[in-house]
Amino acid sequence: MINLILFGPPGSGKGTQATKLVEKYELLHISTGDLFRYEMGNDTPLGKKAKEYISKGELVPDEVTIGMLVNKVIANPDVKGYIFDGYPRNIDQAEALDKILAEMGTEVSGLISLQVDDEEIVKRILNRGKTSGRSDDNDENIIRNRIEVYKGETRPVFDFYAPRDKAFEVDGIGSIEEIFDRLCARIDQF
Ligand code: AMP
Repeated sequence: MINLILFGPPGSGKGTQATKLVEKYELLHISTGDLFRYEMGNDTPLGKKAKEYISKGELVPDEVTIGMLVNKVIANPDVKGYIFDGYPRNIDQAEALDKILAEMGTEVSGLISLQVDDEEIVKRILNRGKTSGRSDDNDENIIRNRIEVYKGETRPVFDFYAPRDKAFEVDGIGSIEEIFDRLCARIDQF
């Protein structure tokens, strides 16, 4: 199995690249952001809870997020692998992921972080906000808070996988095709 964590700050192109990677490698794309937006769209209790945090650019609490992620993984055991997009966002989530994959007899193959600087991120997300319909993409203060949360809580996940030689960086600036080729070159070494 290939179990890839596609990592990087908000707006670094994880979703765009994941869509292309799942096609090439026939993996299941699991985006916790998309799962939350689906729940919010259906106004479920989970969606209502998630909205309280997403609207402020904060992380949805682990007791909600980890359960949702684990359910999605165990509901789809017969796949060639997974691409985790937007998960894990802190160390506890990473430990929970390692645990569920170990229970399934597999493990994280690698984490690839897309490198994009802050000002480019703000520009990209504001641009995406014109069409995404996401309220968290339209307010510069919320976007900057998401970047701070990434630096404080999420970036340590890179250092969690690095000692096992599983964390890699890829330049996230360039055309979609260029970045895709860089990612594939890395994945092909897993
Ligand atoms: P994304 O689509 O990945 O940018 O996620 C949008 C928002 O959903 C984030 O800003 C968080 O509020 C929430 N979210 C997504 N994934 C997670 C996660 N793994 N842990 C906590 N919150 C998350």
